[in-house]
Amino acid sequence: MNIQELSYWEQHFLVPQTDVLIIGGGIVGMLTAIELKQNDKNLSITIAERGFIPQGATTRNAGFACFGSISELMADMQTTPKKDVEALLTKRYQGLQRLRTIVADDAIEYYEHGGYELFTNVAKYEICVSQIDFFNTMAQQAFGTANVYSVEPNANNWNMGSALAIKNKLEGQLNSGKLTLALQAKLQQLNITTLNGVNIETIHEQGNNCQATTNEGYTLHAKKIIVTNNAFAKKLLPQLDITPGRGQVLVTDVIPNLAWKGCFHYDDGYVYFRNIDGRVLLGGGRNINFESENTTQFGLTNDIQTYLKQLLHTLILPNTPYTIAHSWSGIMAFGETKNPIVQQLSPNVYCAVRMGGMGVALGSGTAKEVADLIHF
Ligand SMILES: Cc1cc2nc3c(=O)[nH]c(=O)nc-3n(C[C@H](O)[C@H](O)[C@H](O)COP(=O)(O)OP(=O)(O)OC[C@H]3O[C@@H](n4cnc5c(N)ncnc54)[C@H](O)[C@@H]3O)c2cc1C
Repeated sequence: MNIQELSYWEQHFLVPQTDVLIIGGGIVGMLTAIELKQNDKNLSITIAERGFIPQGATTRNAGFACFGSISELMADMQTTPKKDVEALLTKRYQGLQRLRTIVADDAIEYYEHGGYELFTNVAKYEICVSQIDFFNTMAQQAFGTANVYSVEPNANNWNMGSALAIKNKLEGQLNSGKLTLALQAKLQQLNITTLNGVNIETIHEQGNNCQATTNEGYTLHAKKIIVTNNAFAKKLLPQLDITPGRGQVLVTDVIPNLAWKGCFHYDDGYVYFRNIDGRVLLGGGRNINFESENTTQFGLTNDIQTYLKQLLHTLILPNTPYTIAHSWSGIMAFGETKNPIVQQLSPNVYCAVRMGGMGVALGSGTAKEVADLIHF
């Protein structure tokens, strides 16, 4: 069905022709809309989101407000020049600070309990400890705080299967459900329309008019289109370097008197766990089977769920009774580098995609970057 076949009311009030159409209503799509309004309050902006709520990574992640643990940064230094590693660290840290100016800490349950990298391999731990001074200097140069990383002396109190840990004192955690709600409330305040249940199947540009066809056969019209559907962007923009990566997660029931709080990284960041509402949320293990997790399909697999459950039993809660409440998955986007792709692809089509495993930190800076490319 074409927009001409809509009713008068639908055509004029409910399916607006818009200045900017944003495809994908995750953290990047929502923040891009907010940044665009901050640049020009008269712009009409519509977000098309395929799900009844966002259905990608933003509402399915672990809610770490993290910017880099030592083993991950060391791995990055193997393949990337130091100045680029430092630039990405800065981008993530500043992105988190920017996000916290857009939504209040208490609205998103932002807590700075710290982040910890946990080790079971003593040799690896010692190598990482030997690099603490190097990365503290980098962090101080990047965002001016001294001694961000340190050996954690109290890890024995956690009752975990290992007490070897390096602390990141600036790492925080948030509630991803409440972050989404807070951003949605901001969209409403700014008069930004979100069309839910609208899957964009194709985009076309004709002079100064862009068209996006939907799963229901409508054509939406906009002066400019910004693609922010992250791992799912390749269908619309096959030229992009994007590899999907599924992340599987589980959460326990409430555990009375859980002995620790904070965000934990393990196995070079492939495994992550945290406290949330008196429970343990644990995710990752993509490295157990990269092949099966290279997909845009949601789903759980036996091997990765078994691996996560083993870690819970042997490493995270070896002496604590617990039960598992449920598991889920979400889809991330990776590529040759860890930098997002922010580009003008043609006169009126732009993209801001590929947030990797740290979109909470990278989302706001990426949104600002793409919004600043838009000029009428
Ligand atoms: C299990 C897991 C754990 C994670 N943990 C963390 C963490 O702790 N900290 C952190 O910083 N990052 C984490 N991440 C990564 C982070 O969640 C993402 O980088 C970030 O959410 C990406 O946001 P986005 O808006 O770019 O993409 P998404 O959140 O995926 O949003 C894209 C949206 O586009 C919609 N869409 C797709 N195709 C179409 C279409 N054709 N038409 C219309 N809509 C469409 C989707 O439904 C989706 O809502 C995790 C990710 C996963 C999966």
